[in-house]
Amino acid sequence: MKVLELKNIYKDYKLENKEKFTALEDINISFDKGELVSIVGESGSGKSTLMNLIGGLDSDYTGELKISGSDLKNFKQKELDDYRKKKIGFVFQSFNLIPHLSVLDNVTIGLTLSNVKESIKTKKATELLEKLGLKDQIKKKPTQLSGGQKQRVAIARALINDPDIILADEPTGALDSTTTEQILEILKEIADDGKLVIMVTHSEKVAKISSRVVEISDGKIISDSLNPDYKKIEKEKHLALDNVEDKKAKEGHLSLFSAFKLSLHNMWASKIKNFLMALGVSISLISMILMLSFGAGLTSYISDQAASFSDPKIATITKAGGGSITNPKTFTEEEIDKIADDINIYLDNKGNDFKVVTKAEDEYDYNLKYGFNTLAGIGDASAVKITYTPESTGEEGEEIKPITSGVFYVYTTPPSYTEKNLITKNGHLCGRGEIMLSSAASKALNIDNLEDIVGKQVEIDIKHQNINLPAPLTVTISSIVDASMFSNMLVMYIDYDYLKEITANNADAPTLAPTTLYILTDDIKTTNLINDFIASRPDLSDSLEDKLVRMFDEMLDTFSTALAVIAGISLVVALIMILVVLYMSVSERTREIGVLKSIGARKRDIKQIFSTESFLVGVLSGITGIIFTLIIGGILTIVFNSILGFSPLCMKWYYFLEAILISVIISVLAGLYPSAKAARLDPVESLRHE
Ligand code: ADP
Ligand code: MG
Repeated sequence: MKVLELKNIYKDYKLENKEKFTALEDINISFDKGELVSIVGESGSGKSTLMNLIGGLDSDYTGELKISGSDLKNFKQKELDDYRKKKIGFVFQSFNLIPHLSVLDNVTIGLTLSNVKESIKTKKATELLEKLGLKDQIKKKPTQLSGGQKQRVAIARALINDPDIILADEPTGALDSTTTEQILEILKEIADDGKLVIMVTHSEKVAKISSRVVEISDGKIISDSLNPDYKKIEKEKHLALDNVEDKKAKEGHLSLFSAFKLSLHNMWASKIKNFLMALGVSISLISMILMLSFGAGLTSYISDQAASFSDPKIATITKAGGGSITNPKTFTEEEIDKIADDINIYLDNKGNDFKVVTKAEDEYDYNLKYGFNTLAGIGDASAVKITYTPESTGEEGEEIKPITSGVFYVYTTPPSYTEKNLITKNGHLCGRGEIMLSSAASKALNIDNLEDIVGKQVEIDIKHQNINLPAPLTVTISSIVDASMFSNMLVMYIDYDYLKEITANNADAPTLAPTTLYILTDDIKTTNLINDFIASRPDLSDSLEDKLVRMFDEMLDTFSTALAVIAGISLVVALIMILVVLYMSVSERTREIGVLKSIGARKRDIKQIFSTESFLVGVLSGITGIIFTLIIGGILTIVFNSILGFSPLCMKWYYFLEAILISVIISVLAGLYPSAKAARLDPVESLRHE
């Protein structure tokens, strides 16, 4: 039985407008083992077309193409892949080595596609390369080799699976005459080893050394002659491998591990491009993680702050509407009495027997207390001033300058404040003749060590529309308070009754009326009921702090939404970017894909190589993103801590996990189309690709 038989082979190329071009016409020929066949003919006569048919790269023909008796037309896809992988070895004019793989890896690629063990692969390839005189070139990259060396590597690659047929399309076309002779020598040895070698050539000289010359013209065989002078060299097998034992391993396919290795090699070959892409993708990941961290940090900061000044057993009431923070509305005595009555009726209806008692009703056992809170400085920086005169150190020539600072916020000490809210070891909550300051206000008076100012005297001068002191008043600082969300603002705390007392001395100013009412309940249920009552009354509202919290929450929502939109858009941009880069990578590597297919790579293998690459791009981008986020987050934390005294950035470990996941998901999604495209590429066209 002949190794290869072609009967009535016709091949048409479909052109545009449904026209056809007949490239092969009625080809009838057969070949035997051990033949070294030269196919000659003018350019365009159909030689490569014939080689592609024999090589199983092109199945679009009519006629019979029999390999050891079985018709290629009856082969299933898997059998066809196996045929290319094990029965055929391709050698090309332009070598078609894979540039990013070493000589060794180029040779073993055919075995890698069969999942042969690493040690066996290396052993076989090294043996072959040694026989081909490439012992010292094993670790080099193809670009570091001469033409003849490259072609010998390509021959080693073709031989690695011990195929029956070697197809060489103008193998010496790109080589000089000395190298040509070496390559021909090798091909002759291969044939003499008992394989069928079919090579396409233009050269008379090349044709002369072969055992048989077939001439093609316009797709037809016009002559077929044996060379009577051809002599086989009957040596023991030269190039055939001795250790062809592991037939079992040959049944395997490209493993995930090998796909990873191939992808890594390729990514490393274009590392700058890949790094830049990862950097681009990581920007969206950075913005995503920072957005989440800010959201979490600010939310927890605000709720911490809210918790520090609220007491679940105190209900706080202010006037709604115009009762803004800058100009709060005050309550009259009548209004307060009415509200107390209304609450009592409300509670009674709800079956709660708590009673709101005003000071007017019971001077000793009242539970409704007054407060006055306003943003003092807004619109008039001189509204509330504190002046501190440092003590003399006794040094000669010392100039003592009083330090004056405006205050932002005047705050009567709410009943929820206790000694716990004081941050200095010495001191107490302020009473008559005393005030307390926030730490920021103390610092504004040039006091670095907060303990130092406790017990010191300062002058306060208030010229506010609701509070108006006739003259600056000397008071003592009783302590430093740092428990409210205003701790970073300039705040002066004062006792309500004392504030009322000092403003009463001024005949021109209105008598102080409360802006805030505190009801001290005996349980949280009652507080909640009173809060329900406040919510049901359009003219009333809860505390200024709650208003501030709500305002911050709204700002935070807007801020988070804006950041989420930005992060979302940048993720889409990242996805498109990966898609473009991978798509371009497929175009760049078209030839490589053709080579892999000619070696026997299945569609699935090609797809796997490319999707593994997109997966790795995702992991790489994720890691880059995390590294940069940690750096940027670290810097931001330091900056925030030094400016605000706290950092609103709260990074959770699972944000990083989410970022890696998202990065991998978008990369894999982006890789779907390019890898499908790579898998679908036609091997013949890919190999013709320039
Ligand atoms: P050779 O290798 O002998 O130079 P080919 O086998 O490459 O010739 O091509 C044979 C003929 O088929 C040429 O005329 C070429 O233009 C034509 N041909 C090759 N590939 C295609 C194709 N994909 N579509 C149309 N015509 C093609
Ligand atoms: Mg050709």
